[in-house]
Amino acid sequence: MAAAESDREVPSALCTEFLNFSAKDTASKWLQVTDLYKEVYQHLARYVPKIYCLGPNLNPQSEDLLAQLLLQAPLEWYLCGEDPSTGLAKLEQNNQPSQLCGHVFRVGEPTYSCRECAADPTCVLCMQCFLGSVHKEHRYRMTTSGGGGFCDCGDTEAWKKGPYCQKHEPNISDSCQEDPLAHLSTDMIARCYNVFAIVLKYAVDMLTWDKEDELPPGLEPPDRGDTYYCMLFNDEVHTYEQVIYTLQKAVNCTQKEAVSFATTVDRDGRKSVRFGDFAFCEQAKSVIVRNTSRQSKPLRVQVMHSSVVAHQCFALKALHWLGHVIGYSDALRRILCQVGLERGPEGENSSLVDTLMLCDSKMWKGARNVYHQLFMSSLLMDLKYKKLFAIQFAKNYERLQSDYVKDDHDREFSVTDLSVQMFTVPSLARMLITEENLMTTIIRTFVDHLRHRDLQGRFQFERYTAQQAFKFRRVQSLIGDLKYVLISRPTEWSDQLREKFLEGLDTFLELFKCMQGMDPVVRQVGQHIEMEPEWEAAFTLQMKLTHIISMMQEWCATDERVLIEAYKKCLTALTHCHSGFTDGEQPITLSMCGHSVDTIRYCVSQEKVSIHLPVSRLLAGLHVLLSKMEVAYRFPEQLPLSELSPPMLIEHPLRCLVLCAQVHAGMWRRNGFSLVNQIYYYHNVKCRVEMFDKDLIMLQAGASMMDPNHFLMIVLSRFELYHIFSSADCRKSYNRENTNKDVVQQNNTLIEEMLHLIMMVVGERFEAGVGQVEGCDEIKREIIHQLCIRPMAHSELVKALPENENKETGMERVIDSVASFKKPGVTGRGLYELRPECAKQFNLYFHHYSRADQSKAEEAQRKLKRQNGEDMALPPPMLPPFSPLFASLVNILQCDVLLGMLGAVLQWAVEPSGGHWSESMLQRVLHLIGMGLLEEQQQLKNSSEDHDVSFNFTLKISRPGEAPSNTASVLALLENLQNAPHLEVHKDMIRWILKMVASIKTMRELTASTYTVTASGSHGQEEMVCDKDKAERKRKAEMARLRREKIMAQMSEMQRHFINENKELFQQSLEELYASASTSTSLEHSPTSSDAALVCVGPRRSRPREKRQVVTCILCQEEQEIRADSKAMVLAAFVQRSTVMSKNRKRPPHDPEHYDPLFMHPDLSFGTHTGSCGHIMHSHCWQRYFEAVQAKEQRRQQRLRVHTSYDVGNGEFLCPLCECLSNTVIPLLPGAKGSNSCEQPGLGQWLKISGQQIKAMHSAHRKLQPVGVDAVEETVEEQCPAPESFRIDYTPMSPYSSTIKEMLTTFGTATYKVGLKVHPNEQDPRVPIMCWGSCAYTIQSIERLLVDEEKPLFGSLPCRQDDCLSSLARFGSACWTAASQPSVQGHYIRLVAALIPDPQVETSPCILDIDMLHLLVSVVLSYGSVHSQDSSGLSVDAVQLHFFHIITVAHMVQMLLTSGPEEVTMEQESGGAEREEEEDICALYNTLRTHLGSSLPEVASGWHLWRCVKTGILPYLRGAALFFHHLNGVPTPPELHALCPGQWEVLCGYLSLPSNLLQLYHSQKELLEPLLYGWCSHPGVRQTLQGGGVLVSFPRESNSLIDLPDDYSALINQASSFTCPKSGGDKSRAPTLCLVCGSMLCSQSYCCQTELDGEDVGACTAHTFACGAGVGIFLRVRESQVLFLSGKTKGCFYAPPYLDDYGETDQGLRRGNPLHLCRQRYRKIQKLWRQHSVTEEIGHAQEANQTLVGIDWQHL
Ligand SMILES: [Zn+2]
Ligand SMILES: [Zn+2]
Ligand SMILES: [Zn+2]
Ligand SMILES: [Zn+2]
Ligand SMILES: [Zn+2]
Ligand SMILES: [Zn+2]
Ligand SMILES: [Zn+2]
Repeated sequence: MAAAESDREVPSALCTEFLNFSAKDTASKWLQVTDLYKEVYQHLARYVPKIYCLGPNLNPQSEDLLAQLLLQAPLEWYLCGEDPSTGLAKLEQNNQPSQLCGHVFRVGEPTYSCRECAADPTCVLCMQCFLGSVHKEHRYRMTTSGGGGFCDCGDTEAWKKGPYCQKHEPNISDSCQEDPLAHLSTDMIARCYNVFAIVLKYAVDMLTWDKEDELPPGLEPPDRGDTYYCMLFNDEVHTYEQVIYTLQKAVNCTQKEAVSFATTVDRDGRKSVRFGDFAFCEQAKSVIVRNTSRQSKPLRVQVMHSSVVAHQCFALKALHWLGHVIGYSDALRRILCQVGLERGPEGENSSLVDTLMLCDSKMWKGARNVYHQLFMSSLLMDLKYKKLFAIQFAKNYERLQSDYVKDDHDREFSVTDLSVQMFTVPSLARMLITEENLMTTIIRTFVDHLRHRDLQGRFQFERYTAQQAFKFRRVQSLIGDLKYVLISRPTEWSDQLREKFLEGLDTFLELFKCMQGMDPVVRQVGQHIEMEPEWEAAFTLQMKLTHIISMMQEWCATDERVLIEAYKKCLTALTHCHSGFTDGEQPITLSMCGHSVDTIRYCVSQEKVSIHLPVSRLLAGLHVLLSKMEVAYRFPEQLPLSELSPPMLIEHPLRCLVLCAQVHAGMWRRNGFSLVNQIYYYHNVKCRVEMFDKDLIMLQAGASMMDPNHFLMIVLSRFELYHIFSSADCRKSYNRENTNKDVVQQNNTLIEEMLHLIMMVVGERFEAGVGQVEGCDEIKREIIHQLCIRPMAHSELVKALPENENKETGMERVIDSVASFKKPGVTGRGLYELRPECAKQFNLYFHHYSRADQSKAEEAQRKLKRQNGEDMALPPPMLPPFSPLFASLVNILQCDVLLGMLGAVLQWAVEPSGGHWSESMLQRVLHLIGMGLLEEQQQLKNSSEDHDVSFNFTLKISRPGEAPSNTASVLALLENLQNAPHLEVHKDMIRWILKMVASIKTMRELTASTYTVTASGSHGQEEMVCDKDKAERKRKAEMARLRREKIMAQMSEMQRHFINENKELFQQSLEELYASASTSTSLEHSPTSSDAALVCVGPRRSRPREKRQVVTCILCQEEQEIRADSKAMVLAAFVQRSTVMSKNRKRPPHDPEHYDPLFMHPDLSFGTHTGSCGHIMHSHCWQRYFEAVQAKEQRRQQRLRVHTSYDVGNGEFLCPLCECLSNTVIPLLPGAKGSNSCEQPGLGQWLKISGQQIKAMHSAHRKLQPVGVDAVEETVEEQCPAPESFRIDYTPMSPYSSTIKEMLTTFGTATYKVGLKVHPNEQDPRVPIMCWGSCAYTIQSIERLLVDEEKPLFGSLPCRQDDCLSSLARFGSACWTAASQPSVQGHYIRLVAALIPDPQVETSPCILDIDMLHLLVSVVLSYGSVHSQDSSGLSVDAVQLHFFHIITVAHMVQMLLTSGPEEVTMEQESGGAEREEEEDICALYNTLRTHLGSSLPEVASGWHLWRCVKTGILPYLRGAALFFHHLNGVPTPPELHALCPGQWEVLCGYLSLPSNLLQLYHSQKELLEPLLYGWCSHPGVRQTLQGGGVLVSFPRESNSLIDLPDDYSALINQASSFTCPKSGGDKSRAPTLCLVCGSMLCSQSYCCQTELDGEDVGACTAHTFACGAGVGIFLRVRESQVLFLSGKTKGCFYAPPYLDDYGETDQGLRRGNPLHLCRQRYRKIQKLWRQHSVTEEIGHAQEANQTLVGIDWQHL
């Protein structure tokens, strides 16, 4: 009973009652009784209200425990008839689990579907099953689950291949057939049945209970209290904010409590917000209702009696329990299914399962979820009962859907969502269609919900209310169900299936009739339409139905009888539709070229026209199937072909196509965007298959049954062009009388469009059934034409191709035969390029090209031809032959009307008359002629000898017009045009045509005799001519290319100078430019030959070449020499805090106000980094620029309230040249002057001098302080006077000009402000410390980068970094002049005291707590303030060297103290070369051991120690070399410009060190011994060594970003099990991974917001401040997106380092291709981080994309 006491006090009376309770006794009592139902209900009535809902604060843990003890335990005892722990175990043992995996998915869990084997895309596997399946070697798709749904492993119907993973592979074949109940005793079965029946009934009773104050009979509590709950329910209308606000008012809770209430309501669907008596609860209710009823219906609130709530709570618990118990045994599961589906007292559809389903929309979300889950784990897992359940589901279908449509919860919370689990199972779907007439039910339910019709009974969405629109959205889920049912096509048809399918089709046609002609438009003339008509609803409907229509046709295609019946039904429907439209259309007669035809008078531009013609289009689809399945040839007698009226078939599709043409011609401008959008979607890849494509097919079908002349005349008439071409003298005076320019232009476009349409009717033969092609030819052709535009990425191609219902384009099957894949580099994506041999299939008038596509493709193809040295003609490609049903279409090409039109256009071109024709008209005519010629050539080639070819295009075009006009023949006109000067562009095409004509004539002449030989002969001849031509062209092209290249080279040379004017180019070549610039500077630095050995520090220091340093200001372009007394020049710089090198991310951030930054800890946990883009300005130019930016920003904020990528208020600006984010400037200072080196003191002497100086300073500083405390010591002081040359009272003059002084303060203050995160204060003594620290930190960071990039120490840095380091070092040595001298000297004294013990400095850190490079840099740079008072001739160089040597020794000691235990290796014996070092280091180590004793382990050989020290000290030495090089301006030795061996010696030499570093110690042993002793005796050393502090070992490894798994789904899986750390086990919505430290965070969510500096920030921003000092790099796992954050306001998204096999990222995880880590790209991100460029990257991203600026980054 421990848990009962835990949180809530249980009344003691209850306690004893609970203690005395025995589950076993209760169960055995139950076994005796006759009315078990009553008995159990009584038990529940007594206990449930005592356990649940006893107060305002529910306590789930103790409730659960009590419920288990008092309620579930007796049930389990009864069930098992023995101790449940053994009983249930037995059940589990005997269980033979089914082969279904059935794992239910968590939100965000990865799911896998096989694109090759899955029956449909809803068939998925869990990760575990997937990894054990054959599909991981297939083409698979990975997605994240939205929660719900389960793994289909083991379901043989879900997979075409490999249905089982290794784990679920059935071991014995017959086990699954066996009845699971066979293993259970009849007693057991009976008991089980009883318990399940009662418990399930109880749960159903309670969950569907709708009275607030009463309980079902049998459950009334013995003692009814007077306590109530005010229960708040969730809805999808009110926002989080509204609910939180209302709750605060209604129940007086805090914002935090309100948030928690709202979160629970959103998750569980309801939550009690108040507990108390009725009135108290009622009051809260009324406030809530009042507050939320203003704009919408109010939030649902109920005041419920606590016992009702208690029973409902336990009812949920009981369902959980049932789910848990059936998990032990498939037999129990089956019993539960039986109980659930047993018909209730009210007859049909009254089982408990039915009751639950039918009450679904009345229940709250939490209750629904629980019982849906139980259904999934019971009914849907048992194959027998799944079928029975499916039948019940189908019976209730209409009612459930209607409830759902009225309900406002999302579909995932509705029981209708279970449809996917049954309807996608092919055998179930088929059964439901035949037995429950499911197809008809679904369509009918759908149609019933769309009631808005016009007078003709068509849908009308125009005056849709919001309510109806909402309903319309929900009703669409029915289409999804229909899709599931149709997704697998039957392989066998029963008569019953035929009957029911056709019945479904009938209903479907009823739906189509309501759509045929909906949303008609009328051309607006005069004024623009007033209101854009609604069009989206109709198109949504069309789009949603697209796949259904295709699938219906595919079903028809599997059975001839069904196809024939469907065709008849469709035709009847179409006839029915047409009968309504023809009113008022009068017949007229058209005649042209000796042909005439009757048609109706109808003008698209004047009458109603609709783009929606689903009935016509379905018929077109079926018509093609007649041809494809050869039904048309085998059973013509069964088809109603005689009833077909071709003019009727083409009428509406033609109107629709004419509408498009008129819109293109600008005739419908006044109809607004709505029409433009409709036309766009009509052609769009998502709709065109069942819209545009089918209209074209219908035209082909109609035309194939008509006289081509008649067909063309009708086309002309509908295009409203008949009058132009029919007039007798049309060739001469087209439009001559028409002076309206607009009309002329319109007619031109219409003629072009019409010619294009004719091309398509004759030329589009790639649909199987229309032409004689294979299924994959069509898709190949689509891909070829896309790639003719340009090379494309996989995803671009996918987007351009139509997807089927399984989201497949079929592209993968063919892509390799038409394209080659080019892998991506570090950026960009992989591209497919067209194989060159496929270019000849290019058709400029490809029907799916938009006009833009067409012109791009034309340009690309002409360019290609030019490059290959070919002629510029783009003739039509060779076409496949038509299927017999469509074969007559070719005759259109040689019919009189067409030839008349061709002749007319050519005539206009010969005699151009005032722009009344267009070049693209001519181009199309030439293309059509080319098509005719190709057709003839093709037919000639394929014809057998005796068969005469009737198609004689050449003959027709050579024939002149008949009398009286006697017009010229087409051929004659072409020959004429060949020499027209104004048609240069088309010459190649005309030449091609004439050549073709000649070759066909030869073919015809030789046909009779040896046709084949000559044909190939003539072909050969043609080719020879071509070859010769080609060679000549090639030679010319080659010369042209060389000339071009030469010009290009010259231009690129010029561009270097104009780089500033071309930003884009500049950005690209930035890096290269830096690289080349830096090599040139390094050459300057390289030593003259006389300098044998270069030394950068100490009295032997090499002198820098005296050189004036002159720079140019990027703003005013003036040159300026860098001198101490001249105008200040500054570098744009960016200072930032950094943790990139941190070895201890657990160290808490410092308190900025009181932190003492003088000593850096070797863990480098926080540092200040300074970077620069290297651009130099005058300080005054920069100031003027910055002020202008400030002013502009102020104006901008007032006006637009927009943010920028930089924060002016914080001193940020963009470099005026490169737009690099900067926040301060560094002044450029001249290098140190060489000092004349007279005799310099040795170490011993210097130590003495230094000691005296320090003492002198001590006393001088004390004088500055109020006298008193230290009076005694002062007397001691006076005994030891300072050396005379040390003028302690002398105040040196600053050598710098006033502007330089000003800039010294500017940069110092900025570094201080940013580095410490404090308000600027130029007086603060910590200013110089921060500057020295930043210098040291930046050097260390750059040294690390060079190692990581495997670059040499010198010569490889971009010059911007060289410049930055030099100016930082020189600034550091000068910054004391801008600060108070005593305070700088004070720092110096404390720094020195850490090395040389000084009794007057109290708290020096121990040697293990000091980073030595920081110490070296600080001490050297601060020494200037002391040196300025020394006039003894002591050189700075000598002092630098002494410090350097001592610190180096200290560093070695530091390493010896921290060197790890010896590793046993084989190669311990070194070849004697380093013997000396090993002995020396042993000696030093032993000295340390004498000081520290047992704290240091004993070491046998020096080899290990020396190795540790040598590798450990290298980064420090390299850092020191960088530092002294930049500080003193000494040239660098060439050996250090490459990664060659022998670096150690060169480096030591350059640093004026012996290569045996131990000599530093041993040669000065007597002097250093006391220091050594001092270091070791610091109490901190012993403490740290014994584990009392952070011990850093050397060398410090570079930090890396965390390791990422190769397979992205591993990350998804990891994230899916991640729960929000703050809201008790809830799933996090946006799990986000810190790539720096590996923490997973709950981002972008209320629950994990925290306060940072008084503002609410999301988890990422908060983490950024702790982990990255304000800079963060994250991976948003669900989105597959990298997130960069900087501070609170800056951020950007960055491409993730995961790529699919096509070399593309998948941001947002939309495509689902498997993703794998691209290490190269991850390294690039890591490099950005290591070189502190993340913030800069964000700046550039925000400048490039302004929408990024508006995002609330801080809430992520
Ligand atoms: Zn599974
Ligand atoms: Zn499995
Ligand atoms: Zn597979
Ligand atoms: Zn300037
Ligand atoms: Zn710049
Ligand atoms: Zn982190
Ligand atoms: Zn959270």
